[in-house]
Amino acid sequence: MLYKGLIEKYREYLPVNAKTPVVTLNEGNTPLIFSEDLSHELGLKVYLKFEGLNPTGSFKDRGMTMAISKAKEKGATTVMCASTGNTSASAAAYAAKCGMKCAVLIPDGNIALGKLAQAMIHNAKVIAIRGNFDDALNLVKTITEKYPIELVNSINPFRIEGQKTAAFEICDSFGDAPEFHAIPVGNAGNITAYWKGYKEYHSAGKSKTLPKMLGFQAAGSAPIVLGHVVDKPETIATAIRIGNPASWKPALAARDESAGLIDAVTDDEILSAYKRLASGGVFTEPASAASVAGILQLHKKGFFDHVKGSRIVCTLTGHGLKDPNIAIKNVGQPVTLNADIKEILKEVGL
Ligand SMILES: *Cc1c(COP(=O)(O)O)cnc(C)c1O
Repeated sequence: MLYKGLIEKYREYLPVNAKTPVVTLNEGNTPLIFSEDLSHELGLKVYLKFEGLNPTGSFKDRGMTMAISKAKEKGATTVMCASTGNTSASAAAYAAKCGMKCAVLIPDGNIALGKLAQAMIHNAKVIAIRGNFDDALNLVKTITEKYPIELVNSINPFRIEGQKTAAFEICDSFGDAPEFHAIPVGNAGNITAYWKGYKEYHSAGKSKTLPKMLGFQAAGSAPIVLGHVVDKPETIATAIRIGNPASWKPALAARDESAGLIDAVTDDEILSAYKRLASGGVFTEPASAASVAGILQLHKKGFFDHVKGSRIVCTLTGHGLKDPNIAIKNVGQPVTLNADIKEILKEVGL
């Protein structure tokens, strides 16, 4: 049967009805890629849920199909969000799909080139403000409270509803939940959504077990780990450069109810995981690699010593092509040679 996106697939678990206009780009249904490399090193069965293969290149599309469909149902004509990049790319695309206007506030100067290109090409009104993500979100909250504009950040509950379907897909693939689920944490909407999805599937009898949720923040932007707001969050992983997560409390609940943890990984650990994933054929953006950096760190501490053979899923939140500059910066430019076979063979190592 033709795949029609996650709302049609999981309609019975979502707050939609026969009258909801479904705005979709056929998001979801992303692959779970088995990693031989990581499985071998960790003694676990490591799977990568590659969310970079959604229509706009990140998991944000899962929440956006719901948020835009519900906004449309309500009769809204304009949506707005604050964004480190991927939310704006997604909002712009889904708004364009159904003829809505979209305005996005981004932190000045800290947005990956690919994400900016996406928002612009889909005709969103992109406004860079002199401030960080948290400042942008505060502005959007105030504006959407006062004016007839729909807020489509993850504090919009429909976003979480759409995003929880990733957990359903994982359970459908395995016939059960994995033992562990590792995930990057920024605004903390996604860890909240996965845990909600796992719990709902469990209650519905679709899975017998629940995973332990392992969340990872970047060390320079780790408010949940530190237990306080970070005023000037810093990390090369711009998608998780957030000092005051909107879903802070539900993230703590996901951690505690699942008997999991939320920890910090350094930028060096993130970049090393980023390059390692790419060396294994999977190109993610740096923020996405935080999940893998996190499990490598836990492995070094002996965290998995007594659970060998367990299944663990790492969410890879976005595609590497979003941020080509950081890739080139980390691996360098191609060599230039004369158009000469001998020179080429020497360079290739033959
Ligand atoms: C949004 C985003 C995150 C963070 O997700 P939260 O729900 O804010 O915790 C991580 N990685 C990428 C690529 C993102 O776009």
